[in-house]
Amino acid sequence: MAVPFADLGLQYRSIKEEIDGAIAAVIRDNAFIRGPYVDTFEQEFAAAAQIKHCVSCANGTDALYLAMVALGVKPGDEVITTAHSWISTSAMVTHSGASVVFCDTDGATFTIDPAAIEAAITPRTVGIIPVHLYGQPADMDAIMAIARKHGLWVLEDCAQAHLAKFRDQPVGTFGAAATYSFYPGKNLGAFGDAGAVVTNDSALAERMAMLARHGGLVKHNHLIEGINSRLDGMQAAILSAKLKHLEAWTKARQDAARIYDAGLNQLDGVEVPAVAPGRTHVYHLYTIKHERRDALAAYLNEHGVQTAINYPTALPLLPAYARFEHRPDQFPRAVADQSWILSLPMFAEITGEQQDEVIGLIRKF
Ligand SMILES: *Cc1c(COP(=O)(O)O)cnc(C)c1O
Repeated sequence: MAVPFADLGLQYRSIKEEIDGAIAAVIRDNAFIRGPYVDTFEQEFAAAAQIKHCVSCANGTDALYLAMVALGVKPGDEVITTAHSWISTSAMVTHSGASVVFCDTDGATFTIDPAAIEAAITPRTVGIIPVHLYGQPADMDAIMAIARKHGLWVLEDCAQAHLAKFRDQPVGTFGAAATYSFYPGKNLGAFGDAGAVVTNDSALAERMAMLARHGGLVKHNHLIEGINSRLDGMQAAILSAKLKHLEAWTKARQDAARIYDAGLNQLDGVEVPAVAPGRTHVYHLYTIKHERRDALAAYLNEHGVQTAINYPTALPLLPAYARFEHRPDQFPRAVADQSWILSLPMFAEITGEQQDEVIGLIRKF
């Protein structure tokens, strides 16, 4: 039996009428850029994320950029983030004008180690970007305490963590602002690129919205120099249709994770993903560690099971950061994880038979 890494077509077919209706309505109403579908999605997503303002934009990478520019980041500033993420997190620090400072992960949850944050703070530090990686919140108690102590802003990268919670509080509501991606494969995915920044700070929301829309909210009245990072009406209507199912899909991912946990946690050489106390994991990815990762991935692939490595290289060691001359021993946990991690097929519609196939093959291996 072939098991795909994810199955976006299956999800579409399960709600085809709702999606087709949403797309037809946008075309009928000529509502391609901004317009009522974008306004509606922003309101609905803010409600789902339990926050006041949602500023939609073109993708989750722009969301990080817009937030940092609106937070007033400038050359000479340092922003701390994790060594283990997708490159958008760190690249947007640089593009907003600041310098990125990497921290190692905590060794259990793949998220940033608060002790490493404390050690990385200098007089130039202005903010911290924790990433709720794979769908598990970072340690927001410790991170917010550090931020308060040093007067730093916190920008949560929630690209992989829609509806995740830390001590029953939704991610994205701890810091000054939080960013989301609606890339097709994310837990809430558009049919193309899409993203958003959320915040409870009305003035910050207005600055981010202006920046995303050519520097003004009223046509031809450019108060600042912005960029073009708008959400399409079509993507907004699709996202609104899908948002109605997000809770059920999240629950299905969590149920699938329990099945993997039960099938894999007694196996020699396999480490299932740990969930720290008080954290609600939404399993954007179900990532195990395995001593013979590459051989296991090849074996699964031969038998029709798709896997992925998220991510093959710790950010500080990418060629893009060669200028810093970082060494692997500065980020021992993130670097070690790169050679053990393997993401297994995970999507809301995955069947018990598909999971049995994956578990059975890993046992056999
Ligand atoms: C997907 C992702 C992003 C970027 O989102 P895009 O919509 O692809 O630009 C940023 N950070 C993390 C952690 C992501 O997983």
